[in-house]
Amino acid sequence: MSKRILITGAAGFLGSHLCDRFIREGYDVIGMDNLITGDMKNIEHLMPLKNFDFYHHDVSKYIHIPGKLDYILHFASPASPIDYLKIPIPTLKVGSLGTHNCLGLALAKGARMLIASTSEVYGDPLVHPQNEDYWGNVNPVGPRGVYDEAKRFQEAMTMAYHTFHGVETRIVRIFNTYGPRMRLNDGRALPAFIGQALRGEDITVFGDGSQTRSFCFVDDLIEGIYRLLMSDYVHPVNIGNPDEISILDFAKEIIALTGTDQKIVLKPLPKDDPKQRKPDITRAKQILGWEPKISRSEGLKITYEYFKNLPKEDLYKYAHPREFNSSSKS
Ligand code: UDP
Repeated sequence: MSKRILITGAAGFLGSHLCDRFIREGYDVIGMDNLITGDMKNIEHLMPLKNFDFYHHDVSKYIHIPGKLDYILHFASPASPIDYLKIPIPTLKVGSLGTHNCLGLALAKGARMLIASTSEVYGDPLVHPQNEDYWGNVNPVGPRGVYDEAKRFQEAMTMAYHTFHGVETRIVRIFNTYGPRMRLNDGRALPAFIGQALRGEDITVFGDGSQTRSFCFVDDLIEGIYRLLMSDYVHPVNIGNPDEISILDFAKEIIALTGTDQKIVLKPLPKDDPKQRKPDITRAKQILGWEPKISRSEGLKITYEYFKNLPKEDLYKYAHPREFNSSSKS
C-alpha cells in the first residue's frame, strides 16, 4: 500500500514542487491550500492523477482528513515581505494555529511531520554565516515580525509536540530559494528584477544594494527537504546555498541574463531588511549528505525561461495576493 502524505500550501511555489516530488516517489499525495497566495495553475497538471487529491481548506481552521496519514509537510504560509504587510494576521495564524492543527493531526494519525521554518528566525543576523545554534536577532513588532515570530513559535510548538507527545518531527530552516512557479509579482528580489526586465522597466534595488543574500535553486532545496524527512534528525537543519552575493551584483546578473537595457535605480531600504544572509550548511552535509548542486547561473537560466514563457498578462498582475478580499480576512 502506498504511503500517504499531506502537503499544506500545495498550490504555492515550494508546496507544488513537493507535490511533484512525492508523486514521482509513488506516494498518495493530498494537497491542501486556501489559495490566498497559492495558485491552482501550479498543480493543475496533478489534478487528473488518481494518487493526487486537493482540499481547498485553510489550515488555520480544524483539519479533517479521513484515513491513514504517514507524513505531513506544513508549507502553507505567505512568504514575502509584501504579503506580510497585506495579510499580517493570516500570516501569524497559519504559522501558529495552522501548525498546531497539523501537529494535532500528526499526533492523531501517528504521522511524521516536517515544518517549513526559515532563515527569518535569525532576523537581521549578528552572526555570519548563520548556523543552527544561533538564536537570532528578530524585531517582534516590525513588519517582518508577523512572519518571523510565527515561525519561531512554530519551531517551539513542534519541539514541544516531539518532547511531550513523542510526535516524530523535522524542522527545515529554508534560506532564499528561487525557481519556476515563484509569483512574478510577489515583491521578492528575483521575480521583481526579472518582471521589471520583461516589462522594460528600471530595476529597483533597495538601499545601496550592499545587503547580501544566498540563493538556492528549488530542485536542490526539495532534495534537502526530502532527505531531512527521511532522516531521524529532530533538530533544525539549514537548507540553502551558501553562494553569497550582494543584491546590487545580483541585479547586474539579472540584467546580463535578460539582456535588458534598463538601468538600476536605488529605492529606500525596507524596515528591518537583513543586511546579510548566508547559511552554514555543515549540519546538512554531515547528517543528510546534502549540498546544493545547481549553480546560480544554471538555476537563473531555467528560471528566466519559465518567466519568459508566461502569458503576457501575468507580467502585469497586481502585486498583492489575488484571492485576498474582505471575506478571507483573519
Ligand atoms: N530587493 C530589492 N529590490 C526589489 C525587491 C527586493 O533590492 O525590488 C531586495 C530586498 O530589500 C532584500 C533582497 O532584495 O534586501 C532580497 O529580498 P527578498 O524579498 O527576495 O528576500 P528577503 O529579504 O526576505 O530575504
